[in-house]
Amino acid sequence: MTVDLAIVGNGILGLMTAYELTNKDPNLSVAIIGPANREGGASQASGAMLGCFGEITGLTFATEQADKRFMMAYDAHKRWPGVVDQLNSMVPAEHQQEINQGTFIVLNPCSGQIESDSFREMLATLDRLNEPYEEIDPRIIEGFNPNENLRPLRSIVIPNEGSIDSRRFMSVLRFLLEQRNVQFVDQKALGFYQEGAGFAVDLENSDTVQSEKCLLAAGAYTQHFLDAHPDLADRMPRILPGVGFSTNLEQVPGNPIKKVIRTPNRAGACGLHVVPQSDGSLYLGASNDVYLQPQTLPMTGIVHFLLECGIEQINPSLYRSQLLTTRTGNRPVSTDGFPLIGETSWDGLYVLTGTYRDGFHKSPVLAQMIAEEILGQEATRQHDYQPERSLIPTLSKEESIKDYLAHLIAAYYEHGWRPPKISDQEATRRVAEEKIRAFYDKHGVEYGISAEILLMHELDSKPEQVAALIKNCFLGNKVPVAL
Ligand SMILES: Cc1cc2nc3c(=O)[nH]c(=O)nc-3n(C[C@H](O)[C@H](O)[C@H](O)COP(=O)(O)OP(=O)(O)OC[C@H]3O[C@@H](n4cnc5c(N)ncnc54)[C@H](O)[C@@H]3O)c2cc1C
Repeated sequence: MTVDLAIVGNGILGLMTAYELTNKDPNLSVAIIGPANREGGASQASGAMLGCFGEITGLTFATEQADKRFMMAYDAHKRWPGVVDQLNSMVPAEHQQEINQGTFIVLNPCSGQIESDSFREMLATLDRLNEPYEEIDPRIIEGFNPNENLRPLRSIVIPNEGSIDSRRFMSVLRFLLEQRNVQFVDQKALGFYQEGAGFAVDLENSDTVQSEKCLLAAGAYTQHFLDAHPDLADRMPRILPGVGFSTNLEQVPGNPIKKVIRTPNRAGACGLHVVPQSDGSLYLGASNDVYLQPQTLPMTGIVHFLLECGIEQINPSLYRSQLLTTRTGNRPVSTDGFPLIGETSWDGLYVLTGTYRDGFHKSPVLAQMIAEEILGQEATRQHDYQPERSLIPTLSKEESIKDYLAHLIAAYYEHGWRPPKISDQEATRRVAEEKIRAFYDKHGVEYGISAEILLMHELDSKPEQVAALIKNCFLGNKVPVAL
């Protein structure tokens, strides 16, 4: 098969990019490569909250770069209704979709200080941007009935923030793209290389896709393709998998949940959330743990924890709901937390990934950015997220240690920790601080690493490999100028 553009990866970014490109140039021939079941993909496991404000944390505005990243999410927030209207105008009635507008944010006592900080920042941002929200009595939220001792401290409703059914949205996009000059190659790619003036992508079934240009958009799996070309890979922030499990349950009997209900983001993870689905089921998500390698099967303990949180903090009636599906997805997390968008030093080779927790929401904006670059059009938005770059700093080393400790203590509380009365939480914090300082010193790293990546050395079963990875990723020419 020979096409103008081969897209490696069939998640939301691959699809939205093909949609944007073929809107702009209907003659462009595109192949989207990826397994039909999207194994390990983040998009297929996501709840697709179109979360701009709900995703805010205490670090969202920590630096100018972080602020710019938020503005991409805010731009996407304003664009989604138009995206859905445009798509609906192109597909028959049975493929029409709608955003389920309205998100309830509940701040409950099940985490640590970081959750209150995120909530405060969220409200301040809504006020600053003059966006509507209202403080409410949580008892008015349909289907929400947490255990009394876990009732929210504060609750708001954001009327213009909602969700879309991720799997249905992607299947409608596929339906539309198949009417265009876009071919779906339901295969895993094994690798890519330069051939003549273009590229060749080898497939699992021994076929090859040849193309003039190539876009790597395989989420957390993008790193596998780059690792085969160390000259390229060494110039980019590494992409790690933020492994997340989510479940689909039967709805709350007699009192279904109608809108997104979520907490602010939690220790090293997204918040606990439930999202009603178009097939009448209820999505409950999600965990997030950064590992060395993508995972494709759910872990018993984490799924148990997620279900327990849903039953206790959302509605005890879920105890009797049937567990319909469990999904495993790998969020693509870059080592500096910023996305990778654009052409590499190989002419015609592009990368689009590193979207972490809100890539579904930001997809219309990201697809537009990469499509403009691929077509050589003037960029609507300037950015500093070229794939080959030094790491962008967010925190100093000292700030990162403080942030890590706040996440660790919050994680302990989320998992039911009760500090012994002969000691207190500060004693635990001190022990953890010594350990993490020793870790930083041993590896000679001065770059402020995110809490999620630091938590890896607590979670992964291969601590020596985590240490080696941390050294590779955060030392040498990848270290930006000290803060
Ligand atoms: C549990 C969970 C909940 C989330 N909730 C939200 C949310 O509510 N809102 C939000 O905005 N974001 C959410 N996210 C994040 C969001 O899903 C991601 O940022 C986004 O989907 C990334 O899209 P992508 O297309 O880059 O990657 P992916 O969706 O990971 O797509 C990559 C694709 O490449 C395929 N692939 C793998 N190997 C190969 C290969 N060898 N050859 C070809 N293809 C291959 C995979 O099967 C996959 O389909 C969530 C993520 C998870 C895991």
